[in-house]
Amino acid sequence: MGLSEGAEVVPFKHKLVKHNVIKFGYMHLAALYGAYLCFTSAKWPTLLWAFLLLEFAKIGITAGAHRLWCHRSYKAKLPLEILLLIFNSIAYMNTATYWVRDHRVHHKFADTDADPHNVNRGFWFSQIGWLFVRKHPDVIEKGKTVFMEDIHKNPLLRFQEKYAFFVIGLWAYVIPTVVPMYFWGETLSNSWHICTMLRHVLTINQIFLVNSIGHRWGNRPYDKNIKAVENLAVSLMSTGECFHNYHHVFPFDYKASELGMTKFNAATMFINFFAWLGWAYDLKTIPDEMIISPGPRRARGWGRKSFGGLGGGMFDPTGKEGNLKGS
Ligand SMILES: [Zn+2]
Ligand SMILES: [Zn+2]
Repeated sequence: MGLSEGAEVVPFKHKLVKHNVIKFGYMHLAALYGAYLCFTSAKWPTLLWAFLLLEFAKIGITAGAHRLWCHRSYKAKLPLEILLLIFNSIAYMNTATYWVRDHRVHHKFADTDADPHNVNRGFWFSQIGWLFVRKHPDVIEKGKTVFMEDIHKNPLLRFQEKYAFFVIGLWAYVIPTVVPMYFWGETLSNSWHICTMLRHVLTINQIFLVNSIGHRWGNRPYDKNIKAVENLAVSLMSTGECFHNYHHVFPFDYKASELGMTKFNAATMFINFFAWLGWAYDLKTIPDEMIISPGPRRARGWGRKSFGGLGGGMFDPTGKEGNLKGS
């Protein structure tokens, strides 16, 4: 189910995955209607509920699938991992397992044919068009070289994968729709179109801005030779994920951003809060002086060389090497 369907080896040309076109076409039309209902008939708790779900969902992708499970940039105790799995299920960007695989492939083969949302295939392809067409053969072939054992061994992720229909269906569709109807008498139409469809479409598109704008328009202070850029507006909308030039150079930093940039980084604030609570620990980061002093090119070489290993430096496979802060 979900966003990565249509994974068959085919020659390099756009070939539509029809059921995804219908599904995402309906979702976007329903979301537009939801936006109209926001201004015409929705109760204010419905809008608040939809906003909270949107933020929780994005945290489930950024602090969960991205920084915890994909890059292993910090560790989480069981209650936090369960909370992130729920948030991740609200987001419904496929299962976390699929998300991690796609993202590890993205880092390892960024901006090539093997990158699932290769920005060189156009803005709309990298934003959302990649879900409408079959994957490039390189994505399938080279994707097999990406390390996934840690993910397949994780019991929570295996649970989400095995019962995806029920777990994601419950958290992404049923609960968001039923809560406003039961607790404050909202209509089914308002609940569905605003809290489920509009909220879901905003979640995926705001996160996908990192793949499109985040590989196109912004600054490249750390490595001018890669496409990933820094873009504050996209960082704001994606709970802190578009310090993206930095992130592609130092992917294992739990902040996914540099120099204490937490103001535009809700996911970092979230992780910091749970670190204070003791539920998040072993936070890996890069001391400011290491980012500033060696200069961008040396910083790049250092980052990639030291953390090369599995997956082109996208995470530290031993769980020890990248702990530069000493947690
Ligand atoms: Zn990227
Ligand atoms: Zn990443």
